[in-house]
Amino acid sequence: MIKTKRTENSKTQNSKMNDHIYRLRREVIDLIYEARDVVSLPRITVRITENHETMLGCARMNDNILWITRRAISAYDLRAIVYHEIAHAVFGAEHNESCPLMKSIRGKDEKLSKEFCQKALRNIAK
Ligand SMILES: [Zn+2]
Repeated sequence: MIKTKRTENSKTQNSKMNDHIYRLRREVIDLIYEARDVVSLPRITVRITENHETMLGCARMNDNILWITRRAISAYDLRAIVYHEIAHAVFGAEHNESCPLMKSIRGKDEKLSKEFCQKALRNIAK
């Protein structure tokens, strides 16, 4: 079980940008573009961070910046993590343990469909 946090954590360390990191960042940016199909989003700054023990991603509330760990990109349901962090970063959404997208803990085998993520984000944006 892995926590996602909504505040910037001083323990995260931004990864040095290289081809691999650029490719990972591209995956995150592609998912942000996909989210734009259902909600209008401002320009969002994406940072890829080194792995963190308990965190997959984080966002600064209402500040249009999000951090995603390398581990989240390689091993987890990245779409759900990116949409979750967008909800924090852009819409200031809080955790909601009854919402599969906005709950604070995400298991490694949990998958949410694209349709589910888009619908949940649309509801949050209202
Ligand atoms: Zn969160």
